[in-house]
Amino acid sequence: MSKPILGIIGGGQLGSMLAVAANKLEIKTVIFCDDIDAPAQSFSNGFVYGEYNDQTKIDEFLDKVDVVTYEFENIPYETLHEINKIKPVLPKPSVNRIIQHRLAEKDFINNLNIRTTRYVSIEKKSEMESVEDFLPGLLKTLTLGYDGKGQYPIKSLQSLDTIDIDYSKGYILEKLVKLKKEISIIITRFSAQKYEIYEPIENFHEDQILRNSKIPAEISDKILEQSKLWATQISEELKYVGTLCVEFFIDRNDNLYVNEIAPRVHNSGHLTINAYNVSQFENHVRAVCKLEQIPLKKISNAKMTNIIGDQIENYRNKEYTENEFFFDYLKKEIKNKRKMGHLTTLIS
Ligand code: AMP
Repeated sequence: MSKPILGIIGGGQLGSMLAVAANKLEIKTVIFCDDIDAPAQSFSNGFVYGEYNDQTKIDEFLDKVDVVTYEFENIPYETLHEINKIKPVLPKPSVNRIIQHRLAEKDFINNLNIRTTRYVSIEKKSEMESVEDFLPGLLKTLTLGYDGKGQYPIKSLQSLDTIDIDYSKGYILEKLVKLKKEISIIITRFSAQKYEIYEPIENFHEDQILRNSKIPAEISDKILEQSKLWATQISEELKYVGTLCVEFFIDRNDNLYVNEIAPRVHNSGHLTINAYNVSQFENHVRAVCKLEQIPLKKISNAKMTNIIGDQIENYRNKEYTENEFFFDYLKKEIKNKRKMGHLTTLIS
């Protein structure tokens, strides 16, 4: 059987790393992106530039590919649903409908008897008057927030007067967890009860942006087992195909909570490129292109550092040891708070 051509919606660093993994497996890729400078085009076999709602461009893209996946979750559900009628989309669009919407996502997780932070839906300002129980909290937009964007810390009801919030957008108010640690689980589901799961990764954030990740995570065996079980249950319930990330909080009493689900390869999993026999990217391509499932083997412990904004210039001029792996995302413009590259260091 000939290998399928993989279409990837989105052309940033995750698209680039997916395309590189596909190349290794001799799978051809075509990127569809609304950024004419999309870095992933340098690693793919084809590139279609267009807005994500431009039907002519979508058709041009679909003509070139056999199966479609995506590197970010905020593509409108309707768009993915329409594409899926022409070429299979994996993970399937219904996964996105749940995960794009913070309330639907949290309800879904709680219905599995998996703990999340306490939350309440906020549709208008007057509803904020009776939420004392959820404070201090974080008010988050229902859709389209990431890396702390669209999030407002709310200390007390009195502090609300000093913050300018457009309530028409729709929000969720989450009680703030007293964080001890944050971890994530990357899992690739191939089909029913067929998974490859990476060990928990410990994550360090600053200003709500991921700065460092490392394995092993310094956590108890109980948390290790529980996080793996919950990630497996979530991916099974979603009938997920591909790589998924579940982000967790651990509070000061060692309670585990699911923070959120990313229906895609994830920044915290970048260290899998160098620390495992098969990376999260290669596993994603294997699952969505229906290639062989290979048992995971860890090669080394590792630490990954995100390179943000103009820090990239220093890294471009450095020399590296054989245990250090520098990835430059080749973004045309350096922007404050923008992820420009990462460095993975293998450690013993
Ligand atoms: P998010 O975009 O929801 O993943 O939030 C980004 C980061 O903000 C998380 O990784 C946490 O460091 C912090 N954060 C978000 N929600 C909460 C919460 N309910 N309690 C404590 N910290 C939070």
